[in-house]
Amino acid sequence: KSSFLLGTRYESSAAAADTTDPVGERFEYQAEVSRLMDLIVHSLYSNKEVFLRELISNASDALDKLRFLSVTNPDLMKEAVDLEIRIQTDKDNGIITITDTGIGMTRQELVDCLGTIAQSGTAKFLKAVKESNEAGAESNLIGQFGVGFYSAFLVSSRVTVSTKSPKSDKQYVWEGKADDGSYTIREETDPEKLIPRGTQITLYLKHDDKAFAHPEKIQNLVKNYSQFVSFPIYTWQEKG
Ligand code: ADP
Ligand code: MG
Repeated sequence: KSSFLLGTRYESSAAAADTTDPVGERFEYQAEVSRLMDLIVHSLYSNKEVFLRELISNASDALDKLRFLSVTNPDLMKEAVDLEIRIQTDKDNGIITITDTGIGMTRQELVDCLGTIAQSGTAKFLKAVKESNEAGAESNLIGQFGVGFYSAFLVSSRVTVSTKSPKSDKQYVWEGKADDGSYTIREETDPEKLIPRGTQITLYLKHDDKAFAHPEKIQNLVKNYSQFVSFPIYTWQEKG
């Protein structure tokens, strides 16, 4: 069953230019995450498009989690929004936004999930890199193990994760930059950026990777990945 649906809704991108958001509280990454980010940012790994598969799979996991937990806790679904994934591209500014209406993250979950290494695959990846004496070994190993969320930094100079858990009445924004040993978390206060539930990930693409923000490119990648996802994926494109 294919869950790929092509929307043509147009969203203005005027507000999306790469201006740094207001500063939040600063956190240091766990040492392993710093090491991982360093390897990802400086790797010569050429199969960079895996970032989209990783982020779609996280969105799908978050929707699955919500659906599962809401069986015993229907309150989690109190916001009446469909379970879906939306991908918006802004090719002029080199920005990709991936939005899901899944379980979201509380402030503490942001710290626990996006500042430390929980994923066993990632831990194995770091171990394998450490054990290999070959220069450039990490390039092969990234593909072999997968690096989850952090793969966003294969193509992005900056990433923001704006997220609203049904367990919290506040929405929080995590922001990380490539080549930076720390990340920030702040509360979302702009009423126009509030979402009812779930997570919105914004990728500010590196200069050389801006081609990923072309709608046709994203649609082709989504077509391949969406067959493994049981929620609709909408891609938005500017009217030509
Ligand atoms: P994995 O998916 O294997 O756990 P990742 O690095 O891809 O590892 O993601 C780390 C964690 O961050 C996830 O386990 C999840 O708790 C959290 N996370 C990432 N993306 C999302 C999302 N879209 N919605 C909710 N939580 C997320
Ligand atoms: Mg994942």
